Amino acid sequence: MDRRFFLGAAAGALSAPAWGQALPRFDLLLKNGRVIDARNGVDAVRDVAIREGRIAAVGAGLAPADAIKTIDVKGMIVTPGLIDLHVHVYTGTGERGSYAGDLSVAPDGFTFRNGVTTVVDAGCSGWRNFEDFKDRIIDRSKTRVLAMLNIVGAGMRGGRYEQNLFDMEGAKTAAMAKRWPGVVVGIKTAHFGGPEWTSVDQAVIAGSQAGIPVMVDFGADRPERPLYDLLTKKLRPGDIYTHMYSGLRREQDPVTMGPSRAMIEGRERGIWFDTGTGGGSFKWSLAVPMVKQGFKPDSISTDLHVDSMNSATKDILNVASKMMAIGLTLPEAVADMTWHPAREIKQDGLGHLSVGAIADLAVLSLQKGRFGFTDMVNTRVDGTQKLVAEMTIKDGRIVYDLNGLEALAWDAPPGDARLDGRWTTFARPTSEAH
Ligand SMILES: [Zn+2]
Repeated sequence: MDRRFFLGAAAGALSAPAWGQALPRFDLLLKNGRVIDARNGVDAVRDVAIREGRIAAVGAGLAPADAIKTIDVKGMIVTPGLIDLHVHVYTGTGERGSYAGDLSVAPDGFTFRNGVTTVVDAGCSGWRNFEDFKDRIIDRSKTRVLAMLNIVGAGMRGGRYEQNLFDMEGAKTAAMAKRWPGVVVGIKTAHFGGPEWTSVDQAVIAGSQAGIPVMVDFGADRPERPLYDLLTKKLRPGDIYTHMYSGLRREQDPVTMGPSRAMIEGRERGIWFDTGTGGGSFKWSLAVPMVKQGFKPDSISTDLHVDSMNSATKDILNVASKMMAIGLTLPEAVADMTWHPAREIKQDGLGHLSVGAIADLAVLSLQKGRFGFTDMVNTRVDGTQKLVAEMTIKDGRIVYDLNGLEALAWDAPPGDARLDGRWTTFARPTSEAH
């Protein structure tokens, strides 16, 4: 593909004066894909042009002559880079079996191959160890890693730390969040087993002081702190309830099998609902009837960690395919992995393809066939379609390319290696190597 450019390059090299004075307008042009951009209300066949890490143009009939590199993605889906709102990626020094330790995964191993360019670590670190997390993982990852601070100062360093009521300090947590705006994008409370409201109350104090949302994994189901009170009284509109289809905390009405009154009234108040399917937080016996009754997710996330990645969750495109198997449309699923999670964490610069936006994109294919999707109790729903990541672009450069869409044929004339860095992170054949 793109012989035109490379033949042109070879001719140019012979007949200097060389490149440079009149670079094409675009570094990279994706032609003929079905562009789904929820924020801008686009669902149509469009071309997307990128220049210097930003979206330069979206339209019909953009000219390959204006681009250094053109890739035909006809029949594929082009979306903003996917955002996984709930992952665990702090492979730190927590106790054995903790999410600030060996239960976390390295982000780059799981993101680009699924079209994901941004992940949000959901509370592995708290104010005491966030900067270690930042130094160890955030600053060294190719993936854009954002974080929700755990309301527990020690984060998810181990079970006994996470239950320590004396280490839940809203003001100190807010102070650390305010030191890292745009990186710390939320507050998390999770796994709490006691009857007290302390973890939720302190998380809301932190979120209010820092001006960021709170995500709740509501821990043990305790009569002293019912889900109804959490969603209708304690949380603020714009806060996030994750593990929405777990069934562990009365999310389902036992009579209608649809959402419980707490969930319905919470949504009416403006609480966001997130899948966070994880290792033990997603049941078909909830998801099927709740989706059928219209209670769909606001965001599709994985709760990625060492257990969920090999069990029912697997990866975000598998979770999206699951939700499509029980009633979500493709545009709904895409919105739930792009603009909707960006909106939940108030990151307006992410999750859309507006001109001037960061050029994070996913190119997906929708494969047809026989697929099986499982849940936390290993029951199955059969499906006929599955999303697969073909190519991932971060900050305007290709970082993943499943089938070598942008690669030259092995025996094609080499290109000008000086320009390659403008659209790809991969090595290219050069004249010298030929
Ligand atoms: Zn989690």
